[in-house]
Amino acid sequence: MRRLALATLIVALVALPIALLPVRAAPAAADAAHFDYRLAAREVGPGVYVIEGANADFSLANGCNIINTGFIVTGAGVIVVNTGPTKLYGEQQRALIARTTDEPILRVVNLDLHPDYFFGNQAYADVPRLATPTTRAGMQRDGAAYEDNLYRLCGDWMRGTARLLPDTDAVPGVLHVGSHTIELRELRGHTPSDLVLIDRGSGVAFVGGLVFSRRIPTTPNAELAPWLASLQTLAGWKLRYLVPSHGDVGAGFAAIDGTRRYLDWLDRAFAGAAAQGLEMNEVLRLPMPAEFRRWGAADTEYIRNVADLYPRYEEAVLQRAR
Ligand SMILES: [Zn+2]
Repeated sequence: MRRLALATLIVALVALPIALLPVRAAPAAADAAHFDYRLAAREVGPGVYVIEGANADFSLANGCNIINTGFIVTGAGVIVVNTGPTKLYGEQQRALIARTTDEPILRVVNLDLHPDYFFGNQAYADVPRLATPTTRAGMQRDGAAYEDNLYRLCGDWMRGTARLLPDTDAVPGVLHVGSHTIELRELRGHTPSDLVLIDRGSGVAFVGGLVFSRRIPTTPNAELAPWLASLQTLAGWKLRYLVPSHGDVGAGFAAIDGTRRYLDWLDRAFAGAAAQGLEMNEVLRLPMPAEFRRWGAADTEYIRNVADLYPRYEEAVLQRAR
């Protein structure tokens, strides 16, 4: 009897935390279809493909696929632009490329340090992986924290993911690969190093995290003044088609202006709030213009904008007062 009671207690103790856990997807082998990102390539210029992610925040429901990646089939091999948030994404991206072309993968380019730009790199362990020295240093510094965060947010989609960093410095300039002329330009503001990859023939530009298209920008490494200057620079380049890493692809140059309007609003709202001595919880309740409330991740990302950036505005007010 006593033994039975003990067994019941153990069962109850084991079952309790399981019952409290959110419902998890079944193991990959038993339910492979569930772990299918259903990636599709869309040709936006000759040989230039985009793979679109959800205009949303990281979640179990979207497998953390919130990034627009791409690849360029040059005639002499394939250049991959960003590899997605998980090992699984990288593998499915590479399989999609293999279904699209027989050409080998030549290299991978990771445009900034954020995890969804390079956590698929494990699928490309056999090819050179490029990022700027500043980005590589940032990944080295923050990579472990990114891993913890995405395991928490993406659950079983992250299985087997272990960060594989770029192994080669990306150098701004022009590359001639096959029949394509590809230009790398380094700007900053969204992060300390934001690489832009331009396919010169088609005018398609992968603009990374500098442009958020109808999506609230992420700001953990942001500096608004250089970011706004970079948007001005981008707007002056002769480009035909923008591929922002987040949000709606194909919104065109309006997306540059939308990002600029949001960052301007953030800057003015935070400066005004700090001047009035508002606290962070009051800033969280500031009314957001209707246009931005309709954008992807509006429920969650503004909260992080406040946490990331508002303390700097408070600090600036304190400095002036001293
Ligand atoms: Zn980013």
